[in-house]
Amino acid sequence: MATSVTVVHRRAALRADPILRSRLFANSRIKVIWNSIVVAFLGDEASGLTGLLLERNDGLRSDLPVAGAFVAIGHDPATALSAGQLALDPAGYILTGPNSTAASVPGVFTAGDVQDAVFRQAVTAAGSGCMAALEAERWLDSNSLPVGGLIGGLAACRSGVASR
Ligand SMILES: Cc1cc2nc3c(=O)[nH]c(=O)nc-3n(C[C@H](O)[C@H](O)[C@H](O)COP(=O)(O)OP(=O)(O)OC[C@H]3O[C@@H](n4cnc5c(N)ncnc54)[C@H](O)[C@@H]3O)c2cc1C
Repeated sequence: MATSVTVVHRRAALRADPILRSRLFANSRIKVIWNSIVVAFLGDEASGLTGLLLERNDGLRSDLPVAGAFVAIGHDPATALSAGQLALDPAGYILTGPNSTAASVPGVFTAGDVQDAVFRQAVTAAGSGCMAALEAERWLDSNSLPVGGLIGGLAACRSGVASR
């Protein structure tokens, strides 16, 4: 995709896992610009993106010519749909009960990154999806409602449990 990549990082060090940091630093085609932020994307309609305006922590500004940019800053849970309907924490994650995927509205069960401010991994999202399906089944059953469309998800959950 690219012959060289530049990572612009606002601090003097990365907090990523050591193994990921080692792989990054070992790649001769990846350069890191420390203590800097992107202030502006440079270019126009005709030429597209041509560069970035960077600002170092000491205020010094400089241009970095680039042909593309990938923005990855922090975590912002996509819970706008739930705002005003489900209880969210101050960062926007859906609040669930202890040891449960139950949200603040009875019959609503949540899974994945929208309710996980700590791990946010594919495998933990899948695991909480299984928990949510099991809890939804129990809730439907205890309210004498048909399980219906949950059956496929529950079968996947149970085969995962049975194979351990
Ligand atoms: C760059 C990057 C690298 C990663 N690397 C790893 C890794 O190596 N290992 C690992 O385990 N995890 C990794 N993760 C994390 C992993 O991708 C997530 O934890 C996982 O995808 C969360 O699953 P999810 O189902 O909760 O959310 P998502 O996978 O984000 O799925 C949510 C879905 O909901 C849809 N959606 C959102 N809003 C609405 C709406 N209003 N209406 C309808 N649909 C909507 C979205 O389009 C999306 O398809 C990485 C994440 C990133 C960003």
